[in-house]
Amino acid sequence: MNLAFLLSGIALKTHDALLVVDVQNDFMPGGALGISGGDLILPPLNRVISAFLREHLPVLYSRDWHPADHCSFQAQGGPWPPHCVRDTPGARFDDRLRLEPKPRIFSKGQHRDEEQYSAFRAEDEAGEPLSATLRRQGIRRLYIAGLATDYCVQNTTLDLRRAGYEVSVLTDACRAVNLQPDDERLALRRMGGAGAKLLASTELKP
Ligand SMILES: [Zn+2]
Repeated sequence: MNLAFLLSGIALKTHDALLVVDVQNDFMPGGALGISGGDLILPPLNRVISAFLREHLPVLYSRDWHPADHCSFQAQGGPWPPHCVRDTPGARFDDRLRLEPKPRIFSKGQHRDEEQYSAFRAEDEAGEPLSATLRRQGIRRLYIAGLATDYCVQNTTLDLRRAGYEVSVLTDACRAVNLQPDDERLALRRMGGAGAKLLASTELKP
């Protein structure tokens, strides 16, 4: 299926953007907080990224970007092993992820005492939150994909819905942590219940 062809038919294409959530080394299999099958999202995700770029639609990237003593780490009483410590190899985007030469990157979890699963208020290098960028660029609809379905994808999607954005979750380009075996299913149900569309990337339609 030719995504570029399908996307070229989107009537309001200047109001669409793709949000790529936390495709970082530490979340890949073998990483500090490796997610089973996390690497399998790369082929469909890169195809969608390419389609958006061909159509000159914005592709925005979020990343976990923690200080070494972040409150979410087990040494500080949090639930997670240390991961995505800023400026370390584990925090880098996976080498296989398609990036533009100057990707728009939004960092979250930067403050020691604050967990931030949602990318909605993640900040770019100049300190502009994603929420402000979306408003400034007049974006109305977000396609969202990445890691992990049951944490950052879910929380970002719910925030976007609360703020009134249309959201489509590209389910084959997401994977869940599944601390509990049902977490992915519950996350998809919550996002769907909040009005997000759940799509396979091959289903993208105008
Ligand atoms: Zn984190």
